[in-house]
Amino acid sequence: MAPFIHFDQVTKSYGTLKVVDRLDLQVAKGEFVSLLGPSGSGKTTILMMLAGFEHPSHGAIWLDGTRIENLPSHKRNMGVVFQNYALFPHMTVAENVAFPLVMRGVGKAEAGERVTRALDMVRLAHLKDRRPAQLSGGQQQRVALTRALVFEPTVVLMDEPLGALDKQLREHMQLELRDLHRTLGLTVIFVTHDQSEALTMSDRIAVFNHGRVEQLDTPEGIYDRPRTRFVAEFIGETNLFEGVVQRVADGIAEVAIANGVVVRAALLAPVEVGAPILASVRPERLHLQGEAGTGNVIPVTVSDNVYQGDHLRTHLAGPGLELVAKVQRRVPVGAVGSTAFACFEPSECTLIAPDKAPGSAS
Ligand code: ADP
Ligand code: MG
Repeated sequence: MAPFIHFDQVTKSYGTLKVVDRLDLQVAKGEFVSLLGPSGSGKTTILMMLAGFEHPSHGAIWLDGTRIENLPSHKRNMGVVFQNYALFPHMTVAENVAFPLVMRGVGKAEAGERVTRALDMVRLAHLKDRRPAQLSGGQQQRVALTRALVFEPTVVLMDEPLGALDKQLREHMQLELRDLHRTLGLTVIFVTHDQSEALTMSDRIAVFNHGRVEQLDTPEGIYDRPRTRFVAEFIGETNLFEGVVQRVADGIAEVAIANGVVVRAALLAPVEVGAPILASVRPERLHLQGEAGTGNVIPVTVSDNVYQGDHLRTHLAGPGLELVAKVQRRVPVGAVGSTAFACFEPSECTLIAPDKAPGSAS
C-alpha cells in the first residue's frame, strides 16, 4: 500500500548547514509516529516542512498520493500543536476552538455544534466561557489540542506539546492523547526529545541524530534491538562493550571483549569473524548472583549501590570493564567491595555494527 505521508529524499539546508539530510520517511494512515532526538537534530524543521511553514531544499513530500511541498500551509488541512500553545488570550475557550472553523467558513450553528462536541470529548465543556488566563497549563494545552482537532484535520502535527507540563500531568496527557489517537483514527506525527514519552505513545519511533534517521522501528524494536550505538545510548541506558567477533555457530556469536572476557550474543544479522563489533546489554537484564550461572558470566566486584526508590543501581567492576545493573530491591545485593557474578543470556545481548568512519558512504 502506498504510504499516506512520504518524505522522499528530503534535504533541508540553511546556508551551509544541512539540518535534514536525505530524509526518507513513510507513515501509514492512522499511524502515530514520533520523531525522537536530541535538541538540534532537525525534528521541528521536519514538522515545519510537513505543515508548510518551511520548504525542502531538495526532495519531495507526498500526502495521500499528492506532492505537497509547494502547497501553501492552509491548503494542507493539518492540525498543529506546539509546546507554547499560543491560545488567543482575548478569546474564550469556545471562541478559540471555533477559530479554525470560522477561518474555513463553517456556519455559526454548525460551528457551535462541533465546538461543543469537541469540548465534550476532552471534558472541557464546563470551561467554555473562560479565557486562557483562567485555565491551568494542562487545561490550556487541552484547548490547544481541541482547536487542532476540531476541523477534522487529515494529519495532526505536535511539536513537544507536553514539554511545559509537570511530570504527572504530562504522563496523564500522554495516555489521553494515545486514547484520542485510537478513538479518532488520527494520523499523528509527534515530536519529542523525551524517550519515555515516545516509547509510551508511538506505533513507531524515528530516532534522529544530526538530521538523519538512525532507526525507524516499533518502541520494542528501538529499545530491545538498537541498530546503532547512538540509538543504544540515547534510548534508555546500556552497557556497551567494544569487541571482536571470534566465532559464529548455531545462531550465536562469540565476542571477545576486555581482558579475555568472551560474551555470547544471539545473532539478529550476519557478522564476520574478525570484525570489530559492539555488544549491548541493558542494566535491567544483568542478574547478580553469588555463583556462576549459565549463559554469559562476568566476575565482578560491587563498587557502588545507589538507592533509586523502586530499584538499586549497582555499579560493578569486572576484568578491565565497568557495568551498571538495575537490581530489584527484593533481590539481595552484595555490599560495596563484595564479589559476585553478573549474568545474562545470549538473547539479552544485542550486537551493533560499529559506526562507519566519518565521510564513508552509508
Ligand atoms: P530540533 O527541533 O530537533 O531541536 P530544529 O529542527 O529546530 O531541531 O533545528 C535543527 C538545526 O537547524 C539547528 O541547528 C537549528 O539551529 C537550525 N535551524 C533551525 N531553523 C533555522 C533557521 N530558520 N535558520 C537557520 N538555522 C536554523
Ligand atoms: Mg524542536
